[in-house]
Amino acid sequence: MDTKAINSPNRQYTLERTRNIGIAAHIDAGKTTTTERILFYTGLIHKIGDVDDGNTVTDWMEQERERGITITSAAVTCYWTQKKEAGLYKTFDTIPHRINIIDTPGHVDFTAEVERSMRVLDGAVAVFCGVAGVQPQSETVWRQATKYKVPRIAFVNKMDRTGANFDNAVNDMRKKLGAYAFPIYLPIGAEDYFEGVIDIVNQKAISWGSGEVVNEGLKYDVKEIPEALKARSAAALAELIEAVSNKDDVIAELVLEEKPIAPEILKAAIRRLTCKIELVPVLCGSAFKKKGVQCLVDAVVDYLPSPMDIPAATGHVPGEDAKIEVAPNDSAKFCSLAFKLWTDPYAGKLVFFRVYSGQLKKGDTIYNPRTRKRERVSRLMIIQGGERKDIDCAHSGDIAALVGLRNITTGDTLCDESFDIMLEPPTFPEPVISMAIEPKTKGDRDKMSEGLQRLAEEDPTFRCFTNEETSQLIIAGMGELHLEIIRDRLLREFKVDATAGAPQIAYRETITAAAEGEGKFIRQSGGRGQYGHACVEVAPNEPGKGVEVVNGIVGGAIPREYIPAVIDGIEEAIRSGVYAGYQVIDIKVEIVDGSFHEVDSNELAFKMAGIFALKDAFRKANPILLEPIMKVEVNTPDEYQGDLLGDINRRRGRITGIEAKSGSTNLNAEVPLAEMFGYATAIRSLSKGRASYSMEPFRFEQVPNSVLTQILDAAKARPAARS
Ligand code: GDP
Repeated sequence: MDTKAINSPNRQYTLERTRNIGIAAHIDAGKTTTTERILFYTGLIHKIGDVDDGNTVTDWMEQERERGITITSAAVTCYWTQKKEAGLYKTFDTIPHRINIIDTPGHVDFTAEVERSMRVLDGAVAVFCGVAGVQPQSETVWRQATKYKVPRIAFVNKMDRTGANFDNAVNDMRKKLGAYAFPIYLPIGAEDYFEGVIDIVNQKAISWGSGEVVNEGLKYDVKEIPEALKARSAAALAELIEAVSNKDDVIAELVLEEKPIAPEILKAAIRRLTCKIELVPVLCGSAFKKKGVQCLVDAVVDYLPSPMDIPAATGHVPGEDAKIEVAPNDSAKFCSLAFKLWTDPYAGKLVFFRVYSGQLKKGDTIYNPRTRKRERVSRLMIIQGGERKDIDCAHSGDIAALVGLRNITTGDTLCDESFDIMLEPPTFPEPVISMAIEPKTKGDRDKMSEGLQRLAEEDPTFRCFTNEETSQLIIAGMGELHLEIIRDRLLREFKVDATAGAPQIAYRETITAAAEGEGKFIRQSGGRGQYGHACVEVAPNEPGKGVEVVNGIVGGAIPREYIPAVIDGIEEAIRSGVYAGYQVIDIKVEIVDGSFHEVDSNELAFKMAGIFALKDAFRKANPILLEPIMKVEVNTPDEYQGDLLGDINRRRGRITGIEAKSGSTNLNAEVPLAEMFGYATAIRSLSKGRASYSMEPFRFEQVPNSVLTQILDAAKARPAARS
């Protein structure tokens, strides 16, 4: 490909030298520390921050510092030149690469954050704990990366910790994640004696000595492989070559002809396979002890794709189905995706966006096809470490932030006005839990709703709305921790102290058959009356596809100006539910007919007609109630296995796997969230505190009839349960 043609002459870092990566991990595997170290070695932080001191760069929010978990995805830009020690490694590159690191959270309550960042990444580093191996939440993140087709390299961290075992971690990746994972580095020593790594491709040993040389940056020793490790290193190279030759013709041919395989040839093949998601190269190190981090950044450049190495993003013209591909090219029309809203304490409201094609310069006007509005771009910036840096232009493949723009939400396409396109927005899971919330001071109610509205704009898995029957404000999200953090942010950012009610399950309603329905709102009481009449057809939509409302009226059965009012009514009924007062999901609605009155018709009457028509059709379409099912993993010493299994059965749980480990057992199950309240206490008492568990939202499933009546009765008695 002629890369000159697609790179604008005014860009400093070409597309080939751009990497957009995420660092994904189970909480506590060391993602923050690894990010820190990368930023240090790429020259952005001069004093290395340790997570435990609470002064890290990516964890910008106070509460994150306190909790030590990263819950927001800030994008940080850094630069890396692959300089190799002369002699043993050839110096083959002196121009830096630009690496944008998009922070992905490790906690499952924040899947929306993970999803949205996956959407704009080209590649990811999956960090695993060298002691724990593949933990349940790493599986979730892995699945999401697979869903979004994100190429990955794996970093087995914490090799210095007691119990670290590299081979186990690699086996876990193969077994639990089904990954075609092969080491490209091996550890030298482990635990207290972890001293460095062996570069398998180049057959060299790299050692960091005591690891205390950090302030000198890139220094490490490259040596011949110690005698004791020679056989193992050679075997690892043979295994790697065989793995690659199974999937890559170039290497397969060399193997067949028994020709030598030069490191650069092997690396190119590893890169090809990694970019196609057919191979996962595995590295190891200790971020904390600053060992193996430079190798990791080298691998990001060597093996993870540039924006040109992945399939083009796709979108469609609003209202049409045909797909349009948007390949990176600076001279094409501008098209980008807003993936993160963030209120910066200094710069104000920032909109992080990823450019898919074209360029955006300061002073340009962008167009938002969703709102059909234009806005002028007065300021552009990138975040470099803790600093905000103003830039004049963002090029295709880049990530940057817009400053001071309004009317943009997560998932919006921002483009050139002459390029009417909507990129596929990320899909977000439905909230599973809700609670009523009220301000401690009555006068704060308006301030609180404004704050909640702002937070909902930033986070698509967080919802807030008013329960029309009780006038209570309800917040809904992905878990108790998620909602707790929302409350925390209300207090910190909006100075509203709020109390919350007990968490309630966010049930959902849907239909299982197609049906028609009619709604009339007609009042004649002398003088001017009311007249609205609409007919709709409803049908089930595929799970996860959400709600689609379309207007199928071609003649003038309902005048055009009243259609938005009918849609409004339909959407209101969908939000407040029909069957049991829970939000309706996965349904297709088409407005098919209606009638009007020259004098009496108005918007309100048509909105009411929309509500009635939807409710009528919904009731006829075999409605069902859905409940959130959690994926639960329990780890227990063998002797408590029986009791814990019995307990899961009593909770309407379905056991999906029992896996024996040395001395302990892993139980995998799917359990309705409704039955999981109080589980922490139950598991503690059943196992005398020795078993542990984790859970995450998995899917929605029909509520069995045996429990349905209870839920319907409870919903009637407690309208605040809605969400
Ligand atoms: P995150 O939750 O994935 O972002 O993980 P952190 O980076 O916050 O690390 C969690 C804990 O593990 C912290 O106490 C770190 O100091 C510690 N840690 C991170 N990396 C290493 C490592 O390589 N070795 C050891 N021994 N501890 C580490």
